Amino acid sequence: MTDLHRLSIRELSEGLAGSKFSSRELTEHYLKRIAKIDAQVQSYVTVTPEQALAQADAADALRQSGMANVLTGVPIAHKDIFCTQGIKTTAGSKMLDNFISPYDATVVAKGKVAGLVTLGKVNMDEFAMGSTSESSYFGATKNPWALDHVPGGSSGGSAAAVAADLAPFATGTDTGGSIRQPASFCGLTGLKPTYGRVSRFGMIAYASSLDQGGPMARSAEDCAYLMNVMAGHDERDSTSVNVDADDYVANLNGTSVKGLRIGIPKQYFNVAGLDADVKARVEESLKKLEDMGATLVEIDLNMTDAYVPTYYLIAPAEASSNLQRFDGVRYGYRCENPVDLTDLYKRSRSEGFGPEVQRRILIGTYALSAGYYDAYYVKAQKVRRLIQQDFLKAFESVDVIAAPSAPTTAYKIGASLDPVEMYLGDIYTIAVNLAGLPAINAPVGFDKDQLPVGLQLIGNYWSESQLLSVVHQYQQATDWHTKRAAIAEETV
Ligand code: GLN
Repeated sequence: MTDLHRLSIRELSEGLAGSKFSSRELTEHYLKRIAKIDAQVQSYVTVTPEQALAQADAADALRQSGMANVLTGVPIAHKDIFCTQGIKTTAGSKMLDNFISPYDATVVAKGKVAGLVTLGKVNMDEFAMGSTSESSYFGATKNPWALDHVPGGSSGGSAAAVAADLAPFATGTDTGGSIRQPASFCGLTGLKPTYGRVSRFGMIAYASSLDQGGPMARSAEDCAYLMNVMAGHDERDSTSVNVDADDYVANLNGTSVKGLRIGIPKQYFNVAGLDADVKARVEESLKKLEDMGATLVEIDLNMTDAYVPTYYLIAPAEASSNLQRFDGVRYGYRCENPVDLTDLYKRSRSEGFGPEVQRRILIGTYALSAGYYDAYYVKAQKVRRLIQQDFLKAFESVDVIAAPSAPTTAYKIGASLDPVEMYLGDIYTIAVNLAGLPAINAPVGFDKDQLPVGLQLIGNYWSESQLLSVVHQYQQATDWHTKRAAIAEETV
């Protein structure tokens, strides 16, 4: 079969179960596509054909013996922030260009138990800091919809790989939008779960109180299959919640759009820099949901102006602390011929980290230093609480909150946004992480340049099933999620 890459996860599962094709055939098909197409997209940092084929053969053997799971033999790409035993894990950084983890992240280990076949590791902004994937030490990933545009970030490799049909689905992480914004830029569905829903064990830390892994795929249904693998309690992550995960696939029709109260924050649709096409597509999608029976309710989120300054204090503060471990001593990059210990630390870190990471470490260290700690970090934590309360108040009168995922569509590569401009582009995503809430991006059309636009739906705590279900109903009634970039139509 030459069009295996067009099948949904459910169709892949059914095809494997019905012996229409084997995992080896499916895996070879994806490896061929990667070999032919990824030179243009550059979504993979590392491709692992030998391991993938061995996993595929093992999956086929399991099928033969009647011991297969739903996803046994389905391929996946992992963001290069998840540790993979025996396979390089770089986090997009020169610092970890030589790093081979001695263990698997919980998410990766759960994928193996589910029978997923790892195609390789995909590109990302260095240490997940950025919104374009251009800060990767391994070069910029391209947006499959327009190769001179960015795929978004930081999970840009995950988004580009799925959008170019170089993986059926992928893992991502979201500290301040890194699943939702690249999903938006690449026309995909991506879910950022409630903080604590997915284990952070073995996921290289950026800002630990904000980081959360989640699925990126074409549809809510495909995401639900991957959520069933990723979600759940993990004793090795102390902030992982000890509450059973839902069966997200079984719940796909669990929430009716009829009667759903969707909050429309006044402040969000008056943001300077909100692109007219993005605004129009998002409003059309809300109109569609209204036609399907939802009620649109105007709400206030008064703290909107505080989102960017608060996030850009807390995230760098935590990053500066987390990144102290990269000192050139135990693992990772070490400078040549250090003259003494201070020189070893200084040069290993100056040579190993790129400019955006260094900027964050500087900001974070400053904000945490004696004399400034109360004025900046403690203040930001207080504002963070107010932002959370703002959302909780809104959820007293609505079921979900709608917003664009990003104020614009994908930027041109090298658009040379200054850092503050780039930070302002995170306005719609970062408050969700500050509050620890779940949110989903769904593709809802295109701008005048044929670049995808995304709708974001934010839910109350632990409402992943509801979010997936609402998007699933929307996707039953529309076909935006089925649109493919020209490069994905290439056959091998
Ligand atoms: N763009 C945001 C940042 O650079 C979010 C990144 C993320 O979610 N990892 O911090």
